[in-house]
Amino acid sequence: LPNEFEKARPVMQKIEDAGFEAYFVGGSVRDTILGLDIHDVDIATSAYPEEIKKIFKKTVDTGIEHGTVMVIHEKKGYEITTFRTESGYQDYRRPDKVEFVRSLAEDLKRRDFTINAFAMRENGDVTDLFDGLTDLKNHLIRAVGSPNERFHEDALRMMRAVRFASKLDFVIESETLAAIKSNSALLEKIAVERIYTEFVKMMMAKRPKQGILDMINTDMYKYVPGFASHQNELETIAKIDDLNLSDEVSVWSLLSFEFGLDRVGITSFLKSWKASNDIIKNTEICTKTIEKLRDDSLDKWAMYETGKELLVLANHIAKMYGFAKSEEDLVSQYDALPIKNKKEIAVNGGDLIKNGIVKPGPALGKILYAIETGIVNGEFHNEKAELIEAAKKIVKE
Ligand code: ATP
Ligand code: MG
Repeated sequence: LPNEFEKARPVMQKIEDAGFEAYFVGGSVRDTILGLDIHDVDIATSAYPEEIKKIFKKTVDTGIEHGTVMVIHEKKGYEITTFRTESGYQDYRRPDKVEFVRSLAEDLKRRDFTINAFAMRENGDVTDLFDGLTDLKNHLIRAVGSPNERFHEDALRMMRAVRFASKLDFVIESETLAAIKSNSALLEKIAVERIYTEFVKMMMAKRPKQGILDMINTDMYKYVPGFASHQNELETIAKIDDLNLSDEVSVWSLLSFEFGLDRVGITSFLKSWKASNDIIKNTEICTKTIEKLRDDSLDKWAMYETGKELLVLANHIAKMYGFAKSEEDLVSQYDALPIKNKKEIAVNGGDLIKNGIVKPGPALGKILYAIETGIVNGEFHNEKAELIEAAKKIVKE
């Protein structure tokens, strides 16, 4: 068993000693059987939340309304969720009623795919009610039960199917795939934040091209924000040989670049995905830099404005298109810039006013900007006396 499971064993044992069942469930079991690294360990139990809180001294109510309590054991938190059923799905979204139950089978039945519906005891025994082990062997993503019903209950599962296919390099089983095709429009009913999470995970997974092609082939792409008119561009992205994206900004920058979006276009595209302002800002910068790399117009000022981190990201994407610079050269050119940000400028507005060069107001901002660009472009050194002389000249011009 992986280290993460070994560490959690005492927690499981304590629940069992109190007379309840406890299992590892969800993605960590799937990934363990596949021999992949695992991150978070999910534990499911027949004990009710109140019962869990009686067993352990230190707990946190992280999601008590869904039956999840976090138990702290040797400084690590473990999310322990009571077996539950879900019912009353309305509007193709999440259930409006969850009910705690004592039966493991009931809990596994509500899970999305056969390979996500295993339960593992702390001794390593696996419960596999839906033949998920066979699907794992055959590299198939298959809905638990009737795919059509399951996607009506929660349409996000369609996006999750594509995400897991992309993560594991699996194929979506044919009946499940057919159900996605016929229900793809239901994705419009899903909160965009939930789609966002699955989409970004998909793009950062091992085989994003598979995921993109699945989104096209099932028509799902038509029902996520801003994709409907970009089938060709999505196909182009799916053709990129070494598509590998390590963070969100890269994902959105690649799309914005390929879609040919300008600044305004990027903002409205990403606002429709409810992206954070930070992501929007960085995507705008990164996309512009990719364009400059393509046009071979990346000068010192552009590098300065981009910053090292986004410069490397942009170059990484440029590499996929075949117009990147050597990363080493690019970074050393960046490192050689005389300043990296405004704060390093050797004069400030106060200095210029004191020396009688300019009065407070809009003119001051313009002069400071001219000084900043002048330093970055190497027109003058970042030294106070020299900059004050330069400012005098700028004012005369
Ligand atoms: P990852 O390794 O990416 O975290 P995961 O399988 O653990 O993958 P999570 O989103 O963390 O995925 O969900 C944990 C488990 O909860 C899933 O394995 C699945 O059993 C169940 N699950 C999550 N979301 C849904 C859903 N929308 N419908 C049904 N079951 C779900
Ligand atoms: Mg998980």
